[in-house]
Amino acid sequence: MKYETVIGLEVHVQIDTKTKIFCSCSTQFGTPANENTCPICLGMPGVLPVLNKRFLESSMRACLATHCTIEPMNRFARKNYFYPDLPKGYQISQFELPLGTCGHININVDGTKKRIGLTRIHMEEDAGKLIHGENLGNPGKSYVDFNRTGVPLCEVVSEPDMRSAEEARAYLLELKSILEYTEVSDCNMEEGSFRCDANVSIRPIGLKEFGTRTELKNLNSFKFIQKAIEYEVDRQTNILDQGDTVKQETRLYDADRGETFPMRSKEEAHDYRYFPDPDLVPIIIDEAWVEELQKTIPELPEQKRERFVSSYGIPEYDTGVLTSSKLLADYFEQCASLFPQPKIISNWIMGDLLRELKKDGKDIADCPISPSALVDLLKLIDSGTISGNIAKGVFEEMYQTKKPADSIVEEKGLKQITDSSAIEKIVDEVIQANPSQVEEFKGGKEKVIGFLVGQVMKQSKGKANPGMVNKLLKEKMS
Ligand code: ADP
Ligand code: MG
Ligand code: ZN
Repeated sequence: MKYETVIGLEVHVQIDTKTKIFCSCSTQFGTPANENTCPICLGMPGVLPVLNKRFLESSMRACLATHCTIEPMNRFARKNYFYPDLPKGYQISQFELPLGTCGHININVDGTKKRIGLTRIHMEEDAGKLIHGENLGNPGKSYVDFNRTGVPLCEVVSEPDMRSAEEARAYLLELKSILEYTEVSDCNMEEGSFRCDANVSIRPIGLKEFGTRTELKNLNSFKFIQKAIEYEVDRQTNILDQGDTVKQETRLYDADRGETFPMRSKEEAHDYRYFPDPDLVPIIIDEAWVEELQKTIPELPEQKRERFVSSYGIPEYDTGVLTSSKLLADYFEQCASLFPQPKIISNWIMGDLLRELKKDGKDIADCPISPSALVDLLKLIDSGTISGNIAKGVFEEMYQTKKPADSIVEEKGLKQITDSSAIEKIVDEVIQANPSQVEEFKGGKEKVIGFLVGQVMKQSKGKANPGMVNKLLKEKMS
């Protein structure tokens, strides 16, 4: 039997704020355990939460950037469960009246565009973190760090609209990019600012009803998300092929073994006994406020990609790479404004520049070559002062030393030789030194010219003008 995969994703995004969601404790990552705590986020009796306005506004901006409707009346609810990292015994979240509903994100997989629906975006507080004694040389004991407790999150829940691990990956990349562009989150996956749970089911192709889903928790890298989904699809396929049924359960992904394993079944699932939080008033949002925030939404990745194709005439693939971060897109545009050859710029950025940055684990923000410095190098190629090949070496040197292109060319004497008598001298030497190749050429085997050009280039240390070399060789041999 052939099956179709169905995927819906829940993403927890940490919203950038200085202070926590309901108190004034810092959200700083990496501070010593339990330093960022107070009676409110520790859930002491008698304290009252006060909503962080900055967080609410950033959450509204996240909704606007993903085309969600902002609900004019939404409210917080208590989600009750017992766990040692949750001091109050409930998490303040939103349930029946979330902040945002009915949004969408457009994705593009292998040139096919598709719209993925967003069911909702709701606001909630994060829980603390358990640290098990094994990792501290103290087996049998567990410790709790409440620094994360009360850190503000948005949960973004998608419709079950994705049909492959690739689509899930494209959705996550696009969501991450939108949130980064909007500057509501740094989406740092290593620090847990962008965490994904994947709901996966399969159904026989043609069948309308969805199959039973499993929920894969704690997927903290794009690679693992894809691998976990692929593993899960295989596992469910085997089950259905054997005539069995998939159990609805929550599973964890073991990255070392590349497998998912059960965490809890549907029967063990919590009954959260949600009810409206009596300590927090409903949030009423008027249209004027929404309009004001709408004005702060920047050009988003999708619009930018479309504009890059239409105004710079570069291929869609390039625009995808160049807009992968706003800073990289800005870098490209600065170059293009100084040197109107967008495709050449794009090639250098996608090739040499990104390769060097990746090698160093650096971001475009730390790039040692400024847009105008890169353009100066490209102008040297354009004017024929240096060859494209030599430019690669100059680029590397610029990257390492931050020196301008022209001084490197000057210092190392890398100027292209366009003086025909100088080239002629080398051409003569090469012809003398390679009589059999010359004979072959004269005998009609014209391809051998490539070898001879290569020899001349080698002797000139790459500095001879290749067009002139070609022409001179042909003249001399015929
Ligand atoms: P829960 O709170 O139990 O996780 P939700 O209703 O919030 O349940 O749904 C969670 C996610 O599961 C959503 O992203 C939704 O798109 C997805 N989902 C629902 N049914 C299926 C299914 N049959 N296969 C895959 N994903 C599904
Ligand atoms: Mg869920
Ligand atoms: Zn606090």
